[in-house]
Amino acid sequence: MQKHSIVIVGGGFGGLATLHELQRQGTSDIQITLVNPANFTLFTPMLPEVASGSIEARHIVQPLRSADSATKADRPSTAFELGEVVTADLEGRSISVRHPVTHDVKALEYDELVLAVGATDSTMGVSGVKEYAIPLKTIADAQILRERVVAALEVATRTPDPVERDRLLRFAIVGGNFTGVELAGELQAFLEKVIHYYPGISLSQIELVVLDSGEHLLGHLPSKFGKYAASVLRKRGAKLLLKQDVGAIDAAGLILKDGTRISSATVIWAAGEQPSALAGALGLKTSKHGAIEVAADMSVPGAAHVWALGDCAAIPRPHGGTYAPLAQNAIREGALLARNIVASIEGKPTSNFRYRERGQMASLGNRKAVALLPGGHMITGMAAWLAWRAYYLGRLPSLQLKTRVSIDWALGTLFRSGASRLPMVDRDATSFDSYLPAKETHAADR
Ligand SMILES: Cc1cc2nc3c(=O)[nH]c(=O)nc-3n(C[C@H](O)[C@H](O)[C@H](O)COP(=O)(O)OP(=O)(O)OC[C@H]3O[C@@H](n4cnc5c(N)ncnc54)[C@H](O)[C@@H]3O)c2cc1C
Repeated sequence: MQKHSIVIVGGGFGGLATLHELQRQGTSDIQITLVNPANFTLFTPMLPEVASGSIEARHIVQPLRSADSATKADRPSTAFELGEVVTADLEGRSISVRHPVTHDVKALEYDELVLAVGATDSTMGVSGVKEYAIPLKTIADAQILRERVVAALEVATRTPDPVERDRLLRFAIVGGNFTGVELAGELQAFLEKVIHYYPGISLSQIELVVLDSGEHLLGHLPSKFGKYAASVLRKRGAKLLLKQDVGAIDAAGLILKDGTRISSATVIWAAGEQPSALAGALGLKTSKHGAIEVAADMSVPGAAHVWALGDCAAIPRPHGGTYAPLAQNAIREGALLARNIVASIEGKPTSNFRYRERGQMASLGNRKAVALLPGGHMITGMAAWLAWRAYYLGRLPSLQLKTRVSIDWALGTLFRSGASRLPMVDRDATSFDSYLPAKETHAADR
């Protein structure tokens, strides 16, 4: 008998939640294929700690090829396909997947298609973001960021010119929401730990600037959360520039819309994200933010057998608006979406997605955090920090990663951070391109 083929595009929070629930709920008549451009999934909430070196990069990634090993005989079989979906024939129910090594494009047929392709950085129309700012979205971004911070300290320690030294010792984070705030806390803690290795540089010479266009940090939460985060960061010496719009970024630093120049050799872009452009490329109807418009059961109207969830989808809330692009939402969406697919295969009715976020937390480094608990309660300081660690440790996708991160944290309390610079993260040198078949490489040389 021909198996029912379900293709999940995107191996992040939403895609994997869908996969795992399908593996639990589906029958052996189902064949699942997971497509992702990298052969691992990334646990983004701990990226700021990788950027500060508190956690090793490999300890927050989970191989995707192990996803198929969990399958039992009476459950769906699962395959992993390394590649990026570039186009689709939604009428003919087929997608085209480009392999990252050979670049050849393969067609994959489906009975049900799940789009969980997430979001990418948005420059928000600010010039120079791509060229001069460092994003924090991928594991390579986190590693590059750490190398750049250490490089700035290394060069500053031997730079006699006070103006240039000042530029090297100013670290600017654009965006004061979760990523920007957590990164600021981590970076401050890191700089405090390593500064004594650098002769002639004191903590008072370093300036960490956080800029945001809103009135307070953590703008999606009630203002008391942002105010607490601001007081913690300020006490440790950070400069907060609120209600400030960045107009441009260049090699010397950034320029505010009012013309003020802030010189900085390290500008970090944590200001905006936009849903993956794949939705538009497939001709699906999108919201004004570019997210795929879906019905409340996450099916895509007008595209039969297509479903979408997570950061790439605009899922309507029962009383207006759409669900926020958060991992906790994508995980719940994935679980329901899997059940809806199984229901639709069995000819049963599907259910609408309804979920109330359980709370949100931002770690501020140095054993402090701020947390919004269910019911709107706020906890701060060490208690919130312990809650942050316990919650996110629990959400890591495997026992192996939980153990590795716990060990990193324990070592962090026992030993001082180092400031070794490992200039090995070169996107070209580590790209798959160098693994092209020899004949193709030689042909390209001629
Ligand atoms: C630094 C940082 C910290 C964060 N911290 C938190 C937090 O503390 N709590 C929280 O709830 N949320 C947090 N988030 C947000 C959270 O990461 C996202 O909401 C979540 O990842 C969304 O899940 P997703 O499955 O929609 O997308 P993702 O997890 O981004 O997964 C999308 C996947 O699709 C793949 N993909 C993209 N295009 C294609 C294509 N064409 N073909 C095939 N595959 C493709 C991508 O490579 C990726 O693997 C954070 C985000 C960042 C960047």
